[in-house]
Amino acid sequence: MIPVYQPDLSGNEKRYVNECLDSSWISSKGRFVTDFEQSFADYTQTKYAASVANGTVALHLALLALGIGPGDEVIVPSFTYIASVNAIRYVGATPVFVDIEPASWQLDVSQLRALFNKNTKAIMAVHIYGHPCDMPALQQLARQYRLYLIEDCAEAFGTQIDGQHVGTFSDVATYSFFGNKTVTTGEGGMVVTQCPELDAKIRHLKGQGLMSGREYWHDIIGYNYRMTNICAAIGLAQLERAPLFISKKQALAHRYQQLLADLPLTFQQVKAGITHSWWMFSILTGDAAERDALRQHLWNEGVETRPLFNPVHQMPMYAIDKQSLPVTEWIAGRGMNLPSWPGMTDEMLQRISTAIRTFYR
Ligand SMILES: *Cc1c(COP(=O)(O)O)cnc(C)c1O
Repeated sequence: MIPVYQPDLSGNEKRYVNECLDSSWISSKGRFVTDFEQSFADYTQTKYAASVANGTVALHLALLALGIGPGDEVIVPSFTYIASVNAIRYVGATPVFVDIEPASWQLDVSQLRALFNKNTKAIMAVHIYGHPCDMPALQQLARQYRLYLIEDCAEAFGTQIDGQHVGTFSDVATYSFFGNKTVTTGEGGMVVTQCPELDAKIRHLKGQGLMSGREYWHDIIGYNYRMTNICAAIGLAQLERAPLFISKKQALAHRYQQLLADLPLTFQQVKAGITHSWWMFSILTGDAAERDALRQHLWNEGVETRPLFNPVHQMPMYAIDKQSLPVTEWIAGRGMNLPSWPGMTDEMLQRISTAIRTFYR
């Protein structure tokens, strides 16, 4: 079976984790936590990077740090992983769903103005599958309407717009280092910002609201959202090889496109000036029934796939007003992720494309 994802842990991961064990620094203090944060900030060209326990709490902290709460509305695409939307609910705010563009699958900026009202506080831009949202356009809107911008970069480590890394276009941005993300720590996340006050707030909140300079004195209700030194050790080793992971993913996306070019499939379209990091290479089939049949066929041929994310606005806790988002529903219902991990060989890609080809013959 070719899995849909498999992290590459063959660098310094084991050596650094053993250093944690040998030194007994296994909790959330230790050199790897600060080294990982610094290296991450350097790599993604951001000023401040605070490590956290996972990508979901990273989003929670981003919203808390911006002071978003009950009565506030946050605009978010429905075509995303559930965590983006849940985090908005964690702070008591209301998610307002926006549809996506049919070619790039990113939130449709042209539909935003119609969603703004006096309660709108922020836009959460989710860079789905590694293609970025139109951040320059979002920045302009955010300035004009005095809204906060949040970027969920969980799927977009290494993605750039005209050479500028995602995560640096917003007030606060977040990353996930789950096992299938481009850089992994098992479970882990990062909150990045260019603003020193926001960084201080994020660190205060993630560390139980501990006041600096006074032991066991907490002046706000905080959280324990810290990353362990062991996770950070894995993350540092992953970062050392991140350029290789990204170039391999880009190469496999191009190879898939080449191998599948003549089949009745649609791919995510890349806009001009974009460095796509291709977290997951995905295909769209003709309709949902065809998608399900192709997935079953591939499974029988020893190829694991995943469906694209189901629209969040259709899930029971968010489906209250029976909203319709036609592009989201049309894309999500007939797409799948193909195996997309850095250690894949060309033989595997050919095996997968042959399996797809026999389905359409
Ligand atoms: C993976 C992911 C997250 C959440 O990350 P976890 O580390 O699993 O909590 C959030 N948003 C998006 C878009 C993701 O893909």
